[in-house]
Amino acid sequence: TPYHPVAERYDAMEYRSLGRSGLKMPALSLGFWHNFGDDKPLQVQRDIMRTAFDHGITHWDLANNYGPPAGSAESNVGLIFAQDFKHLRDELLITSKAGFALRPGPYGAWGSKKYLVHSLDQTLLKLGIDYVDIYYHHLDDPDTPIEETAEALALAVTSGKALYVGVSNYPAERLREMAAALAQWRIPLRAYQGPYSMFDREIEESVLPTAADLGVGTIAYSPLQQGLLTDRYLDGTVPADSRAARGKFLHEKALSSAYYERATALQGIAERRGQTLAQLALTWVLRDPAVSSAIIGASSVEQLRSNLAALAADLSDDEVAAIEPYAVHG
Ligand code: NDP
Repeated sequence: TPYHPVAERYDAMEYRSLGRSGLKMPALSLGFWHNFGDDKPLQVQRDIMRTAFDHGITHWDLANNYGPPAGSAESNVGLIFAQDFKHLRDELLITSKAGFALRPGPYGAWGSKKYLVHSLDQTLLKLGIDYVDIYYHHLDDPDTPIEETAEALALAVTSGKALYVGVSNYPAERLREMAAALAQWRIPLRAYQGPYSMFDREIEESVLPTAADLGVGTIAYSPLQQGLLTDRYLDGTVPADSRAARGKFLHEKALSSAYYERATALQGIAERRGQTLAQLALTWVLRDPAVSSAIIGASSVEQLRSNLAALAADLSDDEVAAIEPYAVHG
């Protein structure tokens, strides 16, 4: 059936500026790292994407290597985009990245101009679009001069293949270096994407303040700590269809007794607020106005719908303080 998005799709979503730019990000974005490979029925993928857009999630966060197999997420999204979303291109932010290993050989990973240029061309081809909204370098590459990676990102903008550029997983001082290298091309560094959740607060120390200082917008990924900050594992079992059961990116050893202690305490706080643990985790990440968007994953429409309810909530200073002892790595 043809897709007609609901008219009130923008009503409940909050939109936040991406750093010092005119671009508005939805507070919640949809991530394609998992659940959009060839291992997931296309119809489920389509339903998740439609539900997201119907609720004002205008941003799809992709990367060249998302799958499995690597690269298949962009192909699948390209199929669904052609059928459902082509006429909505101007209402969508479609972003991608290159940096992690995509193919064998010396040109399929890291930060060379050779890799970043051809990867973006492949991404555009697979998605069936003329440009991405943000093109990211996916991880810091100590072996490629940062000027070369910056040149490749600048070229993406000047050639019209990307509107904005960003970096992901960079330490604070490299963020500064990239901003300076891009300035040589008169291209602003617009986005930093990094891990941020109640269980992973490393970026608070220097990356967040540095990004704010540079006017670079921060986009948080894995705000649910891949599912650890949900009720997925709280009863002490590992559901067969969960990420921990697959064991590739989330391991059962993460389900330690320290984990259960903290997660159960946080669940209690959530419950007293009338929220689920996942909703509390999202409200917590979004409490910081410096976070432009939190990118969530969802393996079902139900998960996505439930997470969207986090948008209506606020956190008081007292509640933030009550969360503090449990919001630690574990
Ligand atoms: P999350 O922390 O949001 O974890 C998502 C997972 O949590 C889901 O797949 C699901 O796991 C579980 N989940 C979500 N909602 C619920 C719910 N309501 N109840 C129970 N379980 C729930 O984010 P991801 O780790 O998936 O990352 C999100 C996105 O961030 C990625 O898709 C990607 O776009 C981006 N990212 C970027 C990285 C980078 O290097 N730049 C690195 C990592 C992510 P289950 O499968 O078990 O159902």
